[in-house]
Parts: sequence; structure tokens; C-alpha cells
Amino acid sequence: MSPIIPDELMAKASGWLRESGFTVCLTGAGISTESGIPDFRSRGGVWDRFDPKDFDIQRWRGSEEVRRRYWAATRETYPKVLAAEPSAGHRALARLSREGRLPLLVTQNTDGLHHKAGHEAERIVELHGTSHYCVCVACGERPARSAVQERVDAGEEVPACEGCGGFLKPDAVFFGEGIAPDRLERAVEGAESAEVFLVAGSSLAVRPAGALPEKALLAGARLIIVNNSPTRLDRRAHAVLRGKTGNILPALAEAALG
Ligand code: NAD
Repeated sequence: MSPIIPDELMAKASGWLRESGFTVCLTGAGISTESGIPDFRSRGGVWDRFDPKDFDIQRWRGSEEVRRRYWAATRETYPKVLAAEPSAGHRALARLSREGRLPLLVTQNTDGLHHKAGHEAERIVELHGTSHYCVCVACGERPARSAVQERVDAGEEVPACEGCGGFLKPDAVFFGEGIAPDRLERAVEGAESAEVFLVAGSSLAVRPAGALPEKALLAGARLIIVNNSPTRLDRRAHAVLRGKTGNILPALAEAALG
């Protein structure tokens, strides 16, 4: 059992996972902080070092200077994402999935660490896209990020599409951009079908992802929240497991499966 969660609470939450006919998990940046990737809102997180406005699509499209600053920052940030290893939390969710207890994982993260942990790709919805590909805003061409990043490292300040010359941006959703309808639909359908909805490492502040648990609650699901700080929906959750995802998720998986 986890040293920080009362046994009774852990037994209750793991029992729901064991008995659930359809469990959906929503992960956020808090499952990747233990992999060395900062979240947005904690101290030392992304917003302490970068201007959130630089992640606004209108601003980014309208300013060569914003694009230049963005790509300059990625020379520091992308190698860290590429080198990051899955956390104990990612591995615990992959285990639940392998054992047939987690048919759908919706992630707000763009770091690809669920895939790297061996979680089956067809059971993952990357709601906000991926950092490991770029996309041309003009023609939709989708080159691998590593190739684009090599050009940036070699001195290209604002990489352009090799096909049409349009702007390349990471294939991750910026503020002001819509989520791909097929991904959102799958996530919403999952939430509305869930018997148990598990949140791991998300403040639930960013919509529409942060509203998925409410959809699940409305449809009658049990809501379990694993996070190290309060979230918007703690009051409505059936169980709040406060602490590190890397401690709690392995304990939860072990109790549910073991
Ligand atoms: P968020 O920053 O709003 O919330 C993260 C939550 O996780 C916070 O409440 C924090 O207290 C908690 N947390 C941090 N470390 C934790 C740990 N080890 N154990 C338990 N809880 C922990 O992040 P969000 O809800 O994902 O939403 C913000 C947006 O940030 C999303 O759109 C996402 O796409 C993007 N984002 C992604 C990454 C990534 O891909 N790894 C990193 C930063 C931001």
C-alpha cells in the first residue's frame, strides 16, 4: 500500500478499478514532472520561464519575432523532452492497460511518454497533439520534429515547410487553436461511457480536457483524482488521492491487479 494514502481509501479506489467495466484515465503535465518535464502552473514550471502569450496561435502566426523566440527556446526544451524517460506513473497506467483494466487513456501531454512506457498506441488519445511531429500551417505537411529541430540547431531561426514555404509549428495544440474533432469526440464518448474516470496529474484548469470528468460524472461514473495539489473538481470526486502520481498510481495498479 502507498505510505501516504490511508489503506481504506486505497482499497476503495482500487476496488472500483478492479470492478469497472470501462475505465477512462485523463492525464496531465503532473504525470511527466517526475520524468523531468515541468508542468505549466507549479513553481519552476513553464510559465515561470516562458511568456504564455508566445503559445497563442494568433500571436505566433502574426509575429516573426514570436516565432523566432519560440524556436530559440526549443533548442533548450526539445532535447529534454526527447531524452525524458517514462515515470513510475506512466508505467503503472501502461500496466493497467496491458491487463485489460484501462481501455482508454486521454492525455493532455504532448511528450509521447505514455507511448514510450509501452502503453498501446490505439488506446491513447493525444488530445493536444504531439511534440514529436511538426505541421505546416499552410499545406498540412507533417515532417518529423527531429528533422526540423536539426535544422534549427544548425542555425535556421524560423524553419519553413520544405514543400510550400509555409510556417512550421509543432503538431501540438496552441492556445486559440481547436482540438482535432475526431480526438475530442473519442475523448467525450469515452468520458460519457466510463464507469470509473481516473484523473492523474492535472489541475483540470484547461478546457475542454478539464471538463471531461464532469461529463463522466453526469453520466454516472465514479471519479478518482490523483494529484499533489487541489483541483477544481476535488469536491465532486468520489476519491481524492493526494500525492505524487509516481507513488500513488503504482500502488493503485498493484492493489487493483495484484
Ligand atoms: P497543469 O500544469 O495545469 O497541472 C498539472 C497538475 O499536476 C498541477 O495541479 C500540479 O500540482 C500537479 N502535479 C505536478 N507534479 C505532480 C506529481 N509528480 N504528482 C502529482 N501531481 C503533480 O497541467 P495540465 O492539467 O496538463 O494542463 C496544462 C496544459 O499543459 C495542457 O494543455 C498540456 O497540454 C500542457 N503541458 C504538457 C506538458 C507535457 O506534455 N508533459 C508539459 C507542460 C504543459
